This record gives sequence, structure tokens and C-alpha cells, in this order.
Amino acid sequence: MHKKCSRCGKDTEIVLRNVVYRKRVKITNVPVQVCQDDGCSHLQVIDVVKEDLKDLMENLGHNPQRQSIEFEQVSELSHMLLLIARQEEDATVREALEERVNELLDLFLLAQSLGDQDWMKELRQRLTKIMI
Ligand SMILES: [Zn+2]
Repeated sequence: MHKKCSRCGKDTEIVLRNVVYRKRVKITNVPVQVCQDDGCSHLQVIDVVKEDLKDLMENLGHNPQRQSIEFEQVSELSHMLLLIARQEEDATVREALEERVNELLDLFLLAQSLGDQDWMKELRQRLTKIMI
């Protein structure tokens, strides 16, 4: 995907990773950007899901029980990226979906840089409807 690494400026790739919260809660399939540069490997939760992840952590509180949470049940984008990843047998469908997601993520970054809350909300909704 297009966004550059905030540390070194190289290309990043979106992958699904597990995030551990307060050493007790494992949150699976969180979309993160990973720098493609081996020497850097900077990892960052992607902006579109930051709010969902923050809400989830706030709901868990400071002293959460040991548990595992599937982020794809919380975030539509995570769910969608999982579906794309599973589209192995049909490369054409997968590429078309990836391209669409890329476009919307780019627009989201633009809306975010403009501080346009309504547009950000609209794009978030559109991101959730790609698979339908
Ligand atoms: Zn980097």
C-alpha cells in the first residue's frame, strides 16, 4: 500500500498482526503498517482502525482479564482484509479488492489531513461496504 514509513520514508505494507494489551489481552488480526526496509521494520497501527482499537482498549480498562479478542469482530476493515487474504484461489478478485481498499485508504488519509470528520466517517462506512 502507498503510505510511507513515518520513520525512514520507505514503502510500507499492511499486514494483520496480533497486539497484546496490558500483557493480558491478545487482540488478533489488527491491521498494521510494516516498513519494508529490513533495517527499520517500523510498525504502526493504521490510522483508520486507531479509533476502533482505542475504544476497545478503553472498554477493557486498566486491569483487564486474561483473554483473546478477534479484532475482525470489532473492525470492519480487519474483517475485510482477512477476507481478501483468504481470496487465494482468485487472484483477480483479490487484486480488485486490494486496489479498492488502497483507494479508500488514500482518500481517508487525505480527509484526515484536512480534518474533515464527515468525510472520514463516510469513508469508514464505504470501507465496510466493499464486500457486500
Ligand atoms: Zn522505515
